[in-house]
Amino acid sequence: MKRIVVAGAGFGGLQAVAHLDRMFHHDREVEILLLSDQNYLLFTPLLPQIASSYTDPRHIVQAVREIRGKSKFGFRREAVCAVDTAKRQVIVESGSIDYDALILATGSRTEFFNTPGARENSWDYKSLQQAVELRERIIDLCEHADHTADAAARRSMLTFIVVGGGYTGIELVTEMRDFLYRYAARKYRGLSVSDIRLIVLEAAGNILGGIGPKLAAHARKRLDGSGIEVRTSTRVTRVLEKAVEINGNEIVAADTIIWTAGVRASELIESLPGPHDRIGRAIVNVHLQLEGHPEIFIIGDSAASENAQEAPRVAPVAIEQGRVAAQNIGHMWRGEPLET
Ligand SMILES: Cc1cc2nc3c(=O)[nH]c(=O)nc-3n(C[C@H](O)[C@H](O)[C@H](O)COP(=O)(O)OP(=O)(O)OC[C@H]3O[C@@H](n4cnc5c(N)ncnc54)[C@H](O)[C@@H]3O)c2cc1C
Repeated sequence: MKRIVVAGAGFGGLQAVAHLDRMFHHDREVEILLLSDQNYLLFTPLLPQIASSYTDPRHIVQAVREIRGKSKFGFRREAVCAVDTAKRQVIVESGSIDYDALILATGSRTEFFNTPGARENSWDYKSLQQAVELRERIIDLCEHADHTADAAARRSMLTFIVVGGGYTGIELVTEMRDFLYRYAARKYRGLSVSDIRLIVLEAAGNILGGIGPKLAAHARKRLDGSGIEVRTSTRVTRVLEKAVEINGNEIVAADTIIWTAGVRASELIESLPGPHDRIGRAIVNVHLQLEGHPEIFIIGDSAASENAQEAPRVAPVAIEQGRVAAQNIGHMWRGEPLET
């Protein structure tokens, strides 16, 4: 009996098990086991809409056991703590699990770039729980700002700083604008649009670095006309409890600071042997295999493939790599050439 372990029930991991299942569904000699610390797939493209209350949290998740249907793969809700590459075991909280082939698809986490106070004083926006908590906070602040007599306190409550002008930061701030301008300012009689301040701080010279310059310029124009303050070439050097320090010399007060400025590979990936890139992703070969360990495949946000190191960290890339990794396990075991 051979066992394929897949870690991470996100876009890449679920695509991989779906393909493995098709290949080995009737093969009694192959067991497929999916491990993930969450028992659902989170549809991240709609995560910004949770903050604005335009989407219900239940509508952007799907339980793994629902997705599985009649597929044969096993599922355990377990966080993978480490990989013992010599023994070919993954270490989980309840013990260890042997594998013959392993696909790691554990996504990414937020990078705070060692900015003092950032981790402690800002809101992270990657998980469903964080999104729901931010939504609750925004509503809570509106409730308090609605009746506070202190104008300065109201201003601070209604100032929201988003650090990072990438996709997540821009989508999030525009969702927040929709909620605050179109809903809160109308329904909360003590609030007006002029009390609300939405600020995006971006260290690079432009927002939305991954898209074409023409499109980014168009987005910037729309944002500038929307009342959202976008400041580029602006580095956050410190995050305080209710303020940020910019470029080491300017303080901007805000009750809520949201950090969307960077991502790194998960700690599990960083702990693996072999080369890693500047954001901790494992550098894998064109077949997505870890150096010196052809039985370990790394995909999605966790991987920097030799032939596509600049590929964007987006769901379609993870999905395609999930397919390639699954196929390559089949090819490897059958002694066939591997796909890229
Ligand atoms: C707010 C936001 C908006 C986004 N919007 C878009 C968009 O519009 N379009 C787009 O294409 N992409 C978008 N992305 C990016 C997209 O979500 C990722 O590129 C994609 O999810 C990567 O897939 P993955 O399989 O590598 O990781 P993920 O989908 O993140 O899955 C990783 C899985 O591994 C699990 N896990 C983590 N650590 C462990 C561990 N140690 N043990 C076990 N399980 C573990 C996680 O719980 C998760 O289930 C967005 C991301 C965010 C945060």
